Amino acid sequence: MVPLVEIEIKSVKRPSIAVHGGAGDWSIDRDTETSVRRWIEEALISGYEILKRGGSSIDAVTEAVATLEDSGIFNAGSGSALNALGYAELDAGVMEGYNMYSGSVASVKSIKNPVRLARLVMDNTSHVMLCCDGAEKLASALGLRLEGFSISERILNRYRDLVSKALSSNQAVSPYIKGNIEVMRRMITGSLGDTVGAVAIDREGRLAAATSTGGVWLKLPGRIGDSPIPGSGFYADRHIACSATGLGEAIMTISLCRSIAIASRFLGSVAPAVAYTFEELESIPRFRGFAHAGVIVMEHSEKLYMTFNTRGMARGYISSDTESLEVSIYR
Ligand code: ASP
Repeated sequence: MVPLVEIEIKSVKRPSIAVHGGAGDWSIDRDTETSVRRWIEEALISGYEILKRGGSSIDAVTEAVATLEDSGIFNAGSGSALNALGYAELDAGVMEGYNMYSGSVASVKSIKNPVRLARLVMDNTSHVMLCCDGAEKLASALGLRLEGFSISERILNRYRDLVSKALSSNQAVSPYIKGNIEVMRRMITGSLGDTVGAVAIDREGRLAAATSTGGVWLKLPGRIGDSPIPGSGFYADRHIACSATGLGEAIMTISLCRSIAIASRFLGSVAPAVAYTFEELESIPRFRGFAHAGVIVMEHSEKLYMTFNTRGMARGYISSDTESLEVSIYR
């Protein structure tokens, strides 16, 4: 099979961790690029320090994603995209691959680090996913600070700009938003990002994945994407760990991460599995032409795969043999 998407394949030595800051256009100025690279490095260091001390991959991915949530520059945590009504609803999920425990939260509004709350769901409940008020009640019951966060002027300005474009009939808007415009008009009268994620392998060879997002700009309130859905936006078993970014509706339609895991078992290797699932993703009729996505996949046999069908995907990794931070945004 000839891969249609270009796949970066890296040999890593365990322990190792990789992170992404979302697949997208990444048209940014130099200063923003410098801080994107710096935060990717910070996230790698925060996760790698845990792994180096002999800690688990699940602790490492949780910490790395929390660092990216705190950065304020990615579409997660305090940098989250706003919905059509101008407020943030956050989704996140974590999974460890050895016993296949996972936890996630969807549509939470007053939690600065939804990835930590997803971890509480995994460690302290018999459930996999909690949403909305219930998820926030769990946070206060378990003492996770309900740390609200303020939305920056940069995010508010982007919101105003996107809303005015979406609602003005003579402006071209993305096909994703188009389908909602009528409903948005009714809601707004008075009325499209860069998710973050991590995959790691620890000294014992246990794999883990985590993903966190504010979702898609101008989504309808209550919309939940792929990021908190195990098998779609994140997944880990004893063979691979995967974190995805991109158009949630397309990703969840084919359960992107779990599809890569299954296809790699049947095809006997990860690269053709990634190529196959991306082909499938891009041919979903409903999303043809705008099924944008990216994935990072850590394999138990100490290989890392990174790919995206957009102009860029902020990403980086660190492997214990060289301990150097490898960071890139474009191809
Ligand atoms: N996958 C996220 C969502 O649809 C968005 C992104 O990755 O940028 O909610």
